[in-house]
Amino acid sequence: MKPVLAAQLDRLGIATVRDLVRHYPTRYDDLRAPVKIADLPLAPDGEVNVLGVITRISHVRLRGRVRSKSTAVVEDGSGLLQAVWFGRPYLMTQLKAGMRVFLRGRVERTLAGPRMSVGQHRAVEDGEKFEGDLEPVYPLTAGLTNRTLRRLIGKGVRVTLADPASVIDPLPAGVVAGRGFVDARWALRAIHEPKDMEETERARHRLIFEEFFLLAVSVALRRAAIKAEPAPVMRLGRQALAGLESEFVALLPFRLTIAQRRVLAETWSDMTGRAPMNRLLQGDVGSGKTAVAAGAMLLAVRAGYQTAFMAPTEILAQQQFAKLDGQLSRAGIRSALLVGGLRRRTRDLVLDELKAGAIDVVVGTHALITDDVEFAKLGLVIIDEQHRFGVLQRAALRAKARGHTPHTLVMTATPIPRTLAQSVYADLDVSIIDELPPGRLPVKTYVRPASAKPKIFEFVREQVAAGHQAFVVCPAIEESERAVHSAEEEAERLRAEELRGLRVALVHGRMSSQEKDEVMRLFGDGFIQVLISTTVVEVGVDIPNATVMVVLDAHVFGLAQLHQLRGRVGRGTAKSYCILVAVDGADETRRLDVLEQTNDGFVVAEEDLKIRGRGDLGGVRQHGGDDFKLAHLIRDFPVFLEAKKAAESVVVADPHLRKPANKGLAAHLASVDHDTMIKATS
Ligand code: ADP
Ligand code: MG
Repeated sequence: MKPVLAAQLDRLGIATVRDLVRHYPTRYDDLRAPVKIADLPLAPDGEVNVLGVITRISHVRLRGRVRSKSTAVVEDGSGLLQAVWFGRPYLMTQLKAGMRVFLRGRVERTLAGPRMSVGQHRAVEDGEKFEGDLEPVYPLTAGLTNRTLRRLIGKGVRVTLADPASVIDPLPAGVVAGRGFVDARWALRAIHEPKDMEETERARHRLIFEEFFLLAVSVALRRAAIKAEPAPVMRLGRQALAGLESEFVALLPFRLTIAQRRVLAETWSDMTGRAPMNRLLQGDVGSGKTAVAAGAMLLAVRAGYQTAFMAPTEILAQQQFAKLDGQLSRAGIRSALLVGGLRRRTRDLVLDELKAGAIDVVVGTHALITDDVEFAKLGLVIIDEQHRFGVLQRAALRAKARGHTPHTLVMTATPIPRTLAQSVYADLDVSIIDELPPGRLPVKTYVRPASAKPKIFEFVREQVAAGHQAFVVCPAIEESERAVHSAEEEAERLRAEELRGLRVALVHGRMSSQEKDEVMRLFGDGFIQVLISTTVVEVGVDIPNATVMVVLDAHVFGLAQLHQLRGRVGRGTAKSYCILVAVDGADETRRLDVLEQTNDGFVVAEEDLKIRGRGDLGGVRQHGGDDFKLAHLIRDFPVFLEAKKAAESVVVADPHLRKPANKGLAAHLASVDHDTMIKATS
């Protein structure tokens, strides 16, 4: 294979024949049955096919982006059609008068008769009996045509089907029975080379179920495996827990919300049980997850174990440390901070004390997972903003506990709609803080066109004049091909124009973490008044004095991400504003309206999920290979529930998949790392 082609396939996540044949079409173009020109409907809906002869053709070169236009008159015995192609200068040598052609495109009525804007065409040889087909249309990448990809996939399908061992049916016979599924090999052929649309439907029906089923089986297996691991022993009785609760409540400068108390009770109940806790704590920004974490730590410490709390950035680790230490030290709990920027001597001291058990709680960044960090008795691992960490980083921290699997609490501010969270992440128990502490003013959100920018920055100036601070977020760091605002340019422009005279700073992901931290510190201290940035501010920085969040080109961001950005303001007592600047009237912009309407992260997540199928589930990064290919969680939710039920009964009946009936399933799971996605959350 040519390296160029290999690189193109790689961009599509295709590395093996197996990947290739699992690259499914997103739709099919019906290239059968051309319509007579005379019979073209008056207002054709969508694309139509025509077969005829070119009687006249002309090409012109154009200035500007389109570059060329070809116009032909096509005749099929019943009537005439004007066919137009834009931007395809090579047609000049390809199409000639007298040729027979098959055309597909959108047709409109003009005074001069029907006119087709041609989507695709193909020359039909003289004497060739025309036979169109259903053309699968694949997701493509720059430089790779559908035709080339289709040919490759066709080859892949043939190679695969020729080898009886290469399509093992992962669905056990008992699962297939009664569901009317087509055979795995048949499905593979039919999804790529259907004879009719009904075949594609039958293939999809089976493949979608299969995707859900395989995911659900891996989740169920993993859950069973975790439950069987040895846990740290923290078996406090009911009375001891009640005592602990009063002690904890007395430590806090505020009263826990009902939701916080419920979630803390769930956490404590896990930790005092026999199996290692594996809990996901969801709560919108500002809902007070850290207090729950502190409660979990208190229990661990009282039971004689150490806790490691990992945050994604140094600033966050410092903020969390200050908060936690302030509360826990009053209970005599010894905590320490471990981040990359520590001085050697301080670091060595922390390491010694951790190893000796003289420190109960360590708060840090990924500096916690370096090899020389050892614990005397690690019993609880807490991961803040869990989606910022890779699978391996989380596993590495857990692996520092010896002789048992530590209780694990992962926290996220990206809400996952309830039903989906419970089902997709069945290997995690989910707790939700669905209530904000009292007295918070909801952030007011506006979606505005770019033309409103002068007014928006005028408003920013007013807020700054009133002693507040503002964020301005841009999608890109520097000028790029995409027509979007870049932070560098915007910073330069705003400093010179709209925000002239204000203390404006720039922060982006390509700066060193020292530089970033310095800027964030100056912003936190209130010296910097307006912070222009990329989405590096997304993660939980706490600047209570910031009251305005302006997001430029908001339409290029996901809803969940915008909701996160909005959470950066409204953390203090002053009224706060989030202004989303987006292309006016476009569909992408209308999607943002939900943010104007609600501050409820779950509603936002639900909308996001509807749009994107999987949504940003807990912020788990979706690696190409482990995404659903055909399944769409919202659209196919009933299928998901059915597949999950089937998967669970298979695993309950045969927890190690050793029965002959599950041989294909076991082999399939062994051959693919199907649970990357699941591992990513635990
Ligand atoms: P997040 O869930 O975003 O991590 P934090 O734990 O950082 O939220 O809490 C946000 C702020 O709210 C903190 O300043 C914290 O001290 C405060 N807070 C937490 N719980 C309560 C409560 N029950 N009442 C009042 N303030 C609270
Ligand atoms: Mg937090």
